Amino acid sequence: MFEKILIANRGEIAIRVMRACRELDIKSVAIYSDADTTSLYTNYADESYPLGNPSPAKSYLNIEKIINIALESGADAIHPGYGFLAENPKFGEECEKNGIKLIGPSGKVINQMGDKITSKALMKKAGVPVIEGTPEGITDLDEAKEIARQIGYPVIIKASAGGGGIGMRAVYEEDELVRAIESTQSVASTNFGDSTVFIEKYLEKPRHIEFQLLADEHGNVIHVADRECSIQRRHQKLLEESPSPIMTEELRAKMGESAVKAAEFIGYSSAGTVEFLYDNGKYYFLEMNTRIQVEHPITEIVTNTDLIKEQIKIANGDELNYVQNDIQVTGHAIECRINAEDPLNDFAPNPGKITGYRSPGGPGVRLDSGVYMNYTIPTFYDSMISKLITYGRNRNDAINRMRRALSEYIILGVKTTIPFHKAIMRNPNFISGDLNTHFIDQYKKGIE
Ligand code: ADP
Repeated sequence: MFEKILIANRGEIAIRVMRACRELDIKSVAIYSDADTTSLYTNYADESYPLGNPSPAKSYLNIEKIINIALESGADAIHPGYGFLAENPKFGEECEKNGIKLIGPSGKVINQMGDKITSKALMKKAGVPVIEGTPEGITDLDEAKEIARQIGYPVIIKASAGGGGIGMRAVYEEDELVRAIESTQSVASTNFGDSTVFIEKYLEKPRHIEFQLLADEHGNVIHVADRECSIQRRHQKLLEESPSPIMTEELRAKMGESAVKAAEFIGYSSAGTVEFLYDNGKYYFLEMNTRIQVEHPITEIVTNTDLIKEQIKIANGDELNYVQNDIQVTGHAIECRINAEDPLNDFAPNPGKITGYRSPGGPGVRLDSGVYMNYTIPTFYDSMISKLITYGRNRNDAINRMRRALSEYIILGVKTTIPFHKAIMRNPNFISGDLNTHFIDQYKKGIE
């Protein structure tokens, strides 16, 4: 087993990985920028090394610096967490050159799945249902008009290299098409350095349902059940739950089988996620995330697994400890992302000093947090500061516990998404499980 793992990340996910390391008796190495000298996670590592300049490009995205620290500290593996370098194929290559194991899938797979056109084509070949659309990037506007007419409006223009909800635009009429293509191309070029866009059918009220996967380096692949992630703002998740309120054993078996097929087809290894859009009894491949995801704890709770430990063991070359039948879903879990954002001002980031802090606890509560009393949230990075997770025997128990836990959770000095989550927990549509990806837009009014 690895002796020392460097965690190329910060905040709550760094702590999560360090906890797994400690349970596996592996030493952990933290890295921190000048903006993270007082951050909580560095205390959870056995060693920590400075990165200097806080700008992401010069710190947590700086491959050379991170590899040098790994070599200096004698780390034999690196865990990238999510975001930053987690889906950067070059990082994997550099790790390999230096004899360091990157905990994640191969660079080839990351590359293939990072490009939406390539990944859709592969999934189609694998026999996984995909949304109807152009098989290649748009080069001719007249051709694009013809294709959109064939698919039928509404359609969505998407950047092939897109991610984080950026580079997507729904189009309802032909008159808007050319402008939407050009503006999405420009957004894609600015954000991803690749202006390739494609067209697909826009599903008007889909649910976002994803499947967790575990795949080892020996060809064993299982799914670790589903998560419902329909509650999103700007195409980014805000609240997730497992299982999906509409999940049945039958549907889980069918969608899970598609997810496993997807992973097998590309020779995937490590933890990963296949995302689907579900609409009117049908489901379609959306994308595959080749990393551990923010919302992994809800799966860990309902399936009694430790996905980070599994990731580490897989990277070590171990065979999976589980077969598909070992994965049983028990109870229900919900995760609320606690972001330092102002929900009343279009979720604008609201970093600053936490002047009062009390964390929730008691039965059925898990808090994965990266902050503490008097901590100043830096402006340089993501606004998510913690994840509040509750669980119970059923969905209703989990909701009641979330209400109670949210009422216990006090964060003063910065605005957070806590009041927003409190309102969701009282929303009749949420309570009845009537969800789709426009939930927030539809119910924003009336939420304080
Ligand atoms: P990203 O890689 O930026 O996260 P995704 O392809 O995963 O983008 O899509 C994110 C979200 O965008 C989905 O959860 C869904 O809400 C919306 N979306 C994407 N494609 C479609 C589509 N064809 N129809 C309707 N909504 C879509």
